[in-house]
Parts: sequence; structure tokens; C-alpha cells
Amino acid sequence: MKLGKFEFHLIRESTVRFDGGAMFGHVPKSVWNRLVSCDRFNRVLTACNCLLVKADGRNILVETGMGTKWSEKARGLYELQGTSFRDTLAPHGLRPEDIDTVLLSHLHIDHVGGLTEYGADGTPRLVFPNAKVYIQKGEWMAAHNPDPRSVPSYSGEDFDPAEEAGKLHLLEGDGELFPGISCEVTGGHTVWHQIFRFESEGKVLYYLADIFPSPAHLKPHWVMAFDLVPLEVMRARARLLPRFKEEKALCLLGHAPENPIGYIVEQDEKDRFIPLEKED
Ligand SMILES: [Zn+2]
Repeated sequence: MKLGKFEFHLIRESTVRFDGGAMFGHVPKSVWNRLVSCDRFNRVLTACNCLLVKADGRNILVETGMGTKWSEKARGLYELQGTSFRDTLAPHGLRPEDIDTVLLSHLHIDHVGGLTEYGADGTPRLVFPNAKVYIQKGEWMAAHNPDPRSVPSYSGEDFDPAEEAGKLHLLEGDGELFPGISCEVTGGHTVWHQIFRFESEGKVLYYLADIFPSPAHLKPHWVMAFDLVPLEVMRARARLLPRFKEEKALCLLGHAPENPIGYIVEQDEKDRFIPLEKED
């Protein structure tokens, strides 16, 4: 998909089933289950949606999904079905070595797992050896000194090799990263969770990661049990939704299992997600 100078390609790195209670927090199952189906273990199908961006000679990957470093037991627990970046990038004429920039919203295992893989000697190594990795400094600090609740959400094997290779670029707050590409800290899901905005020739696309993980999460108060600061999630959504509509921006939802790119429009005084493929 072209948008001004940007060429965007959705990379669905994996599908994974997360517990419905974890995905919808305090919302009763009798309510969320009307909108979203689950399997007999109460698990909801989600995807780890990554984005390949080509612009100004750069090959940028936003997020890296679950990756391949999972035991059989864990794969079964989440019904994880993944693909390697070597396979998903090939149709776009790229190898993992061609990626020069990786942008990360935060360092949870389902967003940064694909940054590394186990080498033949069983130690983690970078999947994108030539890429500089961009993350908020506050998120980096939190991942290395996690609160008790966040301990299972982070694994140093996913991101420490980037620092060891001198490939880490720590951000401090909002700002422009490259011409037309900026980051914005939303907080909420993690304290330093960030989203990415792409603008060219008056057209805008947002990569929304876990602040809007699926169409069902457009309702500001439908927060996930995973969200560390739920009130901040609600505030961020209330702040961002009017802007998305005003800018007529394309929005990429981090975990929507199908058609994750679309517009947010108001219908009957409610915000609705209109997937691109259905609109076109
Ligand atoms: Zn997360």
C-alpha cells in the first residue's frame, strides 16, 4: 500500500490465542463474547501485526512479534502459529539483513520476541543484524527492573543482544525519528508505551500497538487486564480518537486478527473501525 512517499506492507508475524479475561479485563464475558468469539479454553484469537515501511531508501520494521524462541509447551498454551521474517519479508524483495531500523512500542514478549532467535549454539542472536532498534529509555529501564506483575512479560533474551551489539537507540519522549515518522508516548499499557505516526503528502497512518489492540478496544473503558495503568489507557484513547477522525488517519491495530488496518469513524455516536479492505 502506498501512502505519499511511504510504502507499507502488513506483516502478520503470528497468530496467538490469549485468555479472554486477560484481553478484556473487568468487562464480563457475557458482554465481550457477543463481539468476540473464544475457544473452549476461553482463549481469543489475536495476531501479532508488524509493519514493513519503505521510504527514503530505508527498510523499517515496526514491531517483531512473538518470534521463534518458544518451547513446545508454550506454543500449545497459546496455540502459537508463527512465520519467520525470512519468509514474510521475501515477497517484498527483502532479507532480515536488509532491515536497517526496528521501531518498538514496548518490550513485552509478544512485541519484541522476534528481534532475536536461538543460534546453533543455543544462545540468542539478532534476527536483523544491521538494524538499529528504537525504544523509549523509560521502557528499557522498566524491562530491566520490572515490577512483580511485569516479570513474566519481559525476557532479556529478546532485547539485550541489541544493546550488546551497540544497536540500541534509546528515545526520551515524543519526537520525529525520520522525516515524516514520529513517536508519541501514550503510557497506559506500560508506563512508556509508544505509538508511531507516519505522515506524507497530507496522509497519515498510525501504528497503535497495544493502546488500541483490536476493534473491540475502541471503547475507552474496555481495557485489558494486561494494562498496567488502566486510567491512563482510557485517557490516551479519549485524547487520540478525535485526532484520528479529524486527520482521517489510517490506523493499524496491534493485535486485530484480520483486516487490522482501517479508519475510525463515528456512527450513531459510537466510534467504529472500518477495515480498509471492506471500505475499498
Ligand atoms: Zn504489551
